[in-house]
Amino acid sequence: MMKIWRVRLILTGVTTSMSHDDEDRVAQAAWQRVAQTRRIIIKVGSHLLTGGQEHLQRDWIDRRCQEICAILDTGRQVVIVTSGAIAAGAARLHLGRKPVLLREKQAAAAAGQGVLMQCYEEAFVHHGRSVAQILLTREDVAHRRRYLNARDTLETLLMLGLVPIVNENDTVVVEEICFGENDTLAALVAGLIDADLLLLLSDIDGLYDGDPRQSDGQARLIPLVHQVTPDIERLAGGSGSQVGSGGMITKLHAARMAARSGCMTVIANGFCEGVIPKILSGQPSGTLFLSEGDTISSRKRWIANGLRSSGDLCLDEGAVSALLSGRSLLAKGIQRVQGHFDRGAAVRCLSPQGELLARGLVNYSADALRSIAGHHSSEFEAILGFRGDDEVIHRDNLVVLRV
Ligand code: GLU
Repeated sequence: MMKIWRVRLILTGVTTSMSHDDEDRVAQAAWQRVAQTRRIIIKVGSHLLTGGQEHLQRDWIDRRCQEICAILDTGRQVVIVTSGAIAAGAARLHLGRKPVLLREKQAAAAAGQGVLMQCYEEAFVHHGRSVAQILLTREDVAHRRRYLNARDTLETLLMLGLVPIVNENDTVVVEEICFGENDTLAALVAGLIDADLLLLLSDIDGLYDGDPRQSDGQARLIPLVHQVTPDIERLAGGSGSQVGSGGMITKLHAARMAARSGCMTVIANGFCEGVIPKILSGQPSGTLFLSEGDTISSRKRWIANGLRSSGDLCLDEGAVSALLSGRSLLAKGIQRVQGHFDRGAAVRCLSPQGELLARGLVNYSADALRSIAGHHSSEFEAILGFRGDDEVIHRDNLVVLRV
């Protein structure tokens, strides 16, 4: 019996043995913390908004907005991250199919974003609440100033009692800089404003230990995940519904990003009536992901989540242990440099096995790094003709993602 529980706990990201009772106690305490959360990001997927139809389902939107208003009445703050612009606009393009080309998606988003906002506007106005639209691109969060501006705007709206409604600015993004799905965007917004709960509403009940659509009812829902480990990631199958862009894997990545910012995540079925108040009153529903105790600062969060990496540094074992013990990255421990980037760029640090270990801002360009990789800083001047920083990435500009 104990063996079975151990397997299940490893799956949920816990590697020490914990009894059945202990796990129940941990889950109860975690759900109580959910009931105490004050600042909540609610991400709404496209399939929920359309119910598989061509048009937005106003009834569904009205009912969820009513639930959100009840939450707001308890003094909590809510930011909605909503998909649905492309789905709402697609019908207007009369393509007879889902938009696939980037310019078709951009056109659909342009046609649908207003319709989407109008639905929210009308749903909230019945309850005396005003909404405000925020459209973001990855570039907005990659630049530190724009990232801070977005944060100020959200904070101001919340302080003034409005409901910010966020979506990706699909009309102007190009492939290289788009999020492509709103799970990641929602996790970024959670980190941006220090939310305590990220609620990912989807058309599935949560994370299963198998594919619920293919395992004849054998797949079991995992109620609690302590940490998103590679074992947990392996449980995520391919993309889910026809209309949305994310799948379970993007939700798991979002949960991991949120956890690093000290924010819990719940993945739950948005088609269940009363799902939002149920969760906010601490009644278990879907899969709850715990946050990490040791959270990272806002600036480091920006380095870890906001920036897009321009290259990879492959490290030796010595550099891996230096990074894991909180030290800076030195050129001596770099085995290979991939990509083209300038000084100040964000890069990924990979272990000798190719696993992502850390992200950071480099003090040298890719070309300079190729010359000094494997060398001691005392040799830099002879190699480069100038003596730059001793560290390739200073520990203040480095975020270790795996412990
Ligand atoms: N931003 C897209 C939209 O509004 C949807 C992305 C997603 O499916 O998560 O239609």
